Amino acid sequence: EVRVRFAPSPTGPLHIGGVRTALYNYLLARKLGGKMLLRIEDTDQNRFVPGAEQYIMDSLRWCGIEIDEGVEQGGPHAPYRQSERKPMYRQYADQLIRDGYAYYAFDTPEELDAMRARLTAAKVASPQYNSITRAQMRNSLTLPEEEVKQLLESGAPYVIRLKVPRKEEIRFNDLIRGWVVVHSSSIDDKVLMKSDGMPTYHLANIVDDHLMEITHVIRGEEWLPSAPLHVLLYRYLGWESTMPQFAHLPLLLKPDGTGKLSKRDGDKLGFPVFPLEFHGKDAETGEPTVSSGYRESGYLPEAFVNFLAFLGWNPGTTQEIFSMQELIDAFSIERVSKSPARFDQNKVRWYNEQYLRAKPDSELAQYLRDALQQQGISTDLPAGQLEQIAGLVKERATFPADLAREAQLFFHRPASYDEQIISKKWNAQVATALTAFAEALPAAQDTTPDGIKALLTQVVEGQGMKLGQVLQALRVAVTGAGAGPDLMHIMSILGPQETAERLRAAVA
Ligand code: GLU
Repeated sequence: EVRVRFAPSPTGPLHIGGVRTALYNYLLARKLGGKMLLRIEDTDQNRFVPGAEQYIMDSLRWCGIEIDEGVEQGGPHAPYRQSERKPMYRQYADQLIRDGYAYYAFDTPEELDAMRARLTAAKVASPQYNSITRAQMRNSLTLPEEEVKQLLESGAPYVIRLKVPRKEEIRFNDLIRGWVVVHSSSIDDKVLMKSDGMPTYHLANIVDDHLMEITHVIRGEEWLPSAPLHVLLYRYLGWESTMPQFAHLPLLLKPDGTGKLSKRDGDKLGFPVFPLEFHGKDAETGEPTVSSGYRESGYLPEAFVNFLAFLGWNPGTTQEIFSMQELIDAFSIERVSKSPARFDQNKVRWYNEQYLRAKPDSELAQYLRDALQQQGISTDLPAGQLEQIAGLVKERATFPADLAREAQLFFHRPASYDEQIISKKWNAQVATALTAFAEALPAAQDTTPDGIKALLTQVVEGQGMKLGQVLQALRVAVTGAGAGPDLMHIMSILGPQETAERLRAAVA
C-alpha cells in the first residue's frame, strides 16, 4: 500500500511551496489508492509558533486536500504530533550507539566554538564536527570508557551524534532527479538527540517514516542535502530494505526568476504567498502582522489548486483546466520537472477568472448578493434578475468582488458622464435619436436584448442615422461610462422604463 506524508513544522504559516508539497503527496496517494498522512514535526520548541498547526490544517482543508491519518483524524500510528511521540525516539538513538553508529558528545558550546575558530583559522571552508575533527573533541569515541560512564551517571549534558563514515559514497535513486551520489566526507556528524532529550528533525523524521510505513517521501528540494544522511540512518537502523522512495520537488522561484520565493516576498511583490490570511507577530518587534492570503483575496480554492499543480508538473497535453479528480487521474511523479518553477501571478489570476466564469450564474448571484448586501444595496429584485446581472458581468470579473463593482450600474443611475465620449459622440442629432428611442421604449413588445436592439435600430434608422453613430453615446447615457458589459443586455435587464428615464435624464 502506498503511504505518503506531509510533515510540516509549525514554525509559521504554510507558504505556497508547502501547499504544493502537500498537494503532490495527496495526488499521488489518491492516484495509487494509498493513504495521506499529516504529521506535525514540532520537536524544535524554539521555533514553535502558536496557531501555525491549526493554520496548516485549515489551509489543507480549504484546498480540498484530505488527510487520512493525522492529528485530527487519528489513525493506527497515533499520535501524529512528534512532541507527543518523544518517548519513542530514545530507543533508536540507543540502538545506534549500541551498534557503533552513534556516540555521546559532551562538548560545551564554548568547546564547539573554539573548534570552529581553530578550523576557520586553518582556512577550512566549512568547519564541521566530523570523522576528522571528532578525534579532538570530548565524546565517547575519544574519552576512556570509565570517564564516559561517570559523565553519564553524573548527569553531565550531552548530545548523541551520528558517526558518519569518512570515505563512503552514499547513493540513492530520487524519483525526480535520478541517481544522487554524495560523498560522506561532505556530511557532518549530525546531532540526533539534543541535550534536552528531544530528537532532532533527522532522527524523528526517519523513525516516524519507518514506524508509519511511509513508502514515498515527497518534499521540497531544500531537503535534498539531508537525504544522504537519512539513507545512512535507514541503513544503520537496519531498515534499508523498507526505505521509502525519495522525490525532491523543484524550487519555486520569484516571478522574475531571481531567486527562491520566500515567505517574506508575498506582500512585497504584490501577491499572497500564503493560502489563507495569517495573523502573526513581527519576529523582532512583536507587533501584530497580517499577511495576505489567497482565500481572502478572492481566489477560489479550485483555481488555486489547479495553478499550484502546474508549478512544477504538467500533464504533457495542452489541457490546463483540471478539477482535483482530473489532477489525480493525470498525476505522475515522472512528469514532475527537475528544473525550478517560476511563480506567475498573471497565471494564477487567469485560473481564477476561468473558474469564476465557469460557475453557474445562480452561484455567482449568491456572491453578488453577499457583496451588495455588505454595501447596503437592496438585493430584493424580481426573480432571476440578480442571476442575469451576474451572468452578464462575469465576463469582466476575475474575483467575486469584481462582480459587485461591475454590477453597480444596475443599482445607481449615472452620477456623471464620460466627458471624452460626450465630447466626441454627442451632438444634437444623436440627442434627438435618443429622445425618440426613450419615447418608443415604454411600448416595447419584446424586451429581450435582441428585441431592444431591433427597436433601437428601427428608431435610429427612422431618424436617418446608423446604429454605430449612437451606440457609444447611448452607453454613456445609460451607464455613465464609455465601456462595460453588452449594452443591449444592460437595457434588457434594466427594463424599458428605467432605460427611458436614464435617457431622458441624459438628454436634459
Ligand atoms: N518538517 C520538515 C519540514 O518542515 C519535513 C521535511 C520532510 O518532508 O522530510 O518541511
